[in-house]
Amino acid sequence: MKLTRLPSEFQEALPILKKIKDAGYKAYFVGGGVRDILLDRPIHDVDIATSSYPQETKSIFSRTVDIGLEHGTVLVLENGKEYEITTFRTEEAYVDYRRPSQVSFVRSLDEDLKRRDFTVNALALDENGQVIDHFNGLEDLKVKKLRAVGRAEERFEEDALRIMRGFRFAASLDFDIEEKTFLAMCSHAHLLEKISVERSFIEFDKLLTADNWKLGLGKLIEAAAYDYLPGLKGQAIGLNRLIHSIMPSFSFKRSEQAWAALILEIKVSNVKLFLKGWKTSNDFQKMVNQILSFYKIRKERKVTSWDLYYYGFEVAMLSEELRRAHALDYDFEALKAIYNSLTIYDKHDIVVNGSYLIKELGCKPGPHLGYLLNQIEVAIVMGELENDRLAIKNYLLKELDNG
Ligand code: ATP
Ligand code: MG
Repeated sequence: MKLTRLPSEFQEALPILKKIKDAGYKAYFVGGGVRDILLDRPIHDVDIATSSYPQETKSIFSRTVDIGLEHGTVLVLENGKEYEITTFRTEEAYVDYRRPSQVSFVRSLDEDLKRRDFTVNALALDENGQVIDHFNGLEDLKVKKLRAVGRAEERFEEDALRIMRGFRFAASLDFDIEEKTFLAMCSHAHLLEKISVERSFIEFDKLLTADNWKLGLGKLIEAAAYDYLPGLKGQAIGLNRLIHSIMPSFSFKRSEQAWAALILEIKVSNVKLFLKGWKTSNDFQKMVNQILSFYKIRKERKVTSWDLYYYGFEVAMLSEELRRAHALDYDFEALKAIYNSLTIYDKHDIVVNGSYLIKELGCKPGPHLGYLLNQIEVAIVMGELENDRLAIKNYLLKELDNG
């Protein structure tokens, strides 16, 4: 198959292929970008594979960054763009189901394509638009099937992450999984325990935030793969509930929202610990917790100005969106109106601070000062106190009298 017109991202990268070829090496576009052109999907990355070894690649271009020389990857900066150029390689002797014990650079494209995970990810494209397809990936693209390159069992034994990637691609591409490939995913799912949590997280997170997440998650449940993922052992019922509790064709707007929806359905005794088990960042854990808290508040009582001030607009919207996803009543406009009418958005907007209270109003430094400042902040946000020095002074005199 030959493409007559390449998308502009690839057109712009053609001079890179040419430079490598002029230096006497082979170079092709590979990976997800090629797949996405053929599917007419938005392109994320333009990845290039080459027969030149990393040092050779570096000598061809004037501006490069070493981003993974041991894997053969050099970042090339050309015309204000960045391109990852990776040497053709094979991966040998996987002893622990997760990382090749040795990466060998090779001069042959065929060898490189063989080690790729799925046939639709094992296509290459040359500078003339010619598609190189050794594993019938074009046919699989046409019938929307995910099929392992070579013998599926072996491929999942080599690197069990490919099992997670299988569920993830089903979700992001809206593809079915070819039968033998799926059977091998089921029989090898236990190997997911050997995979680093960080790598599993990336794939599971991409699955949850994909348009067809229900399809991918359904496959993951069918394969009982959840039993080998952090905090998800024995959670089939909750995971199925997640699929059924969310209205059709709803896709999550952000990772944190998806994880909050997940946590609402499965059994989690401690949200922070569950998310820590997935080695997520503190910021990530915080936002998921905030979405859950706001969701709970919204269910139990009227939302106040303080809630909008404290959790912020984005968390409120993400949480309200979950109500919509759950087919509950929702009102984005009402939340927006509360947010827009806030008198301050940050405690630095308050016209007094600790040192002002000490210097001008004779307050004593110490924990009580923090308590007073907090009271002032709440009172201002709730509209009970004007953000004005005199008003605050009078408020404090009253407070101090009472206290
Ligand atoms: P996306 O559009 O989500 O980035 P992608 O196909 O580009 O999808 P990447 O994770 O960016 O996925 O990987 C780029 C390419 O590298 C894949 O298309 C595949 O050919 C190969 N690849 C990546 N991870 C693996 C793996 N674990 N085993 C085999 N091949 C892999
Ligand atoms: Mg990619």
